[in-house]
Amino acid sequence: MTQGPEGKLTSEELAERKMRFLFALRSRGVTDSRVLTAMEKVDRGLFVRGTFADRAYEDMPLPIACGQTISQPSVVGLMTQALQVNPRDTVLEVGTGSGYQAAILSQLARRVYTVDRYRRLTREAGELFRKLDLVNITTITADGSHGLPDQAPFDRILVTAAAEDPPGPLLEQLKPGGIMVVPVGQSDAVQALIKVTRTQSGFDYEELRPVRFVPLVEGLGSE
Ligand code: SAH
Repeated sequence: MTQGPEGKLTSEELAERKMRFLFALRSRGVTDSRVLTAMEKVDRGLFVRGTFADRAYEDMPLPIACGQTISQPSVVGLMTQALQVNPRDTVLEVGTGSGYQAAILSQLARRVYTVDRYRRLTREAGELFRKLDLVNITTITADGSHGLPDQAPFDRILVTAAAEDPPGPLLEQLKPGGIMVVPVGQSDAVQALIKVTRTQSGFDYEELRPVRFVPLVEGLGSE
């Protein structure tokens, strides 16, 4: 605890900040104890750089590189909770961003594949995963709307950018009994978080809550 934005805080201040962080999560509906434990373990301060680093423990989205955002912690918690990850699961995350969500998933699943269309974001997140010894995460630069045909099928898929509809290739790459959580809607309007469950005969859709995410964009990014 000698590096990063928390360097100057006493251990009491750190404990107090962590308590407030967890309290905010609980009061916004994150109640799953495995999810809370994972979020207690992964330090969000490491995933936010520059001027916003000291706001990492507040329940708000923050800007990251490439004009993208790290999601609000309570939304990360609610999405992770809705995904109902089991310890033996292989999970695909579309939209690595800062890598924070993937790091949470890595505590809950056997294996996590995370893809982003910006090489810079996957590179920086990959470096952080190595530093934190999160060896069960594989980071890939790709257009995630096509999924990862070589690594499919997946037990769980989490999309952290908004699509107009749940992308067909992602639905195809979900195992029977598998769950996908995806924000759906027009990029500049309010979107709905959707939970899709693959059944033996098709797909069940459940609308969870309104959310606001950056759009899922086709092709690779410029950075
Ligand atoms: N989960 C991230 C936040 C995601 S922000 C975190 O924990 O910090 C959304 C991300 O989705 C951005 O980084 C953006 O580059 C990425 N994205 C948008 N469209 C994409 C696509 N088609 N394929 C892969 N990544 C995409």
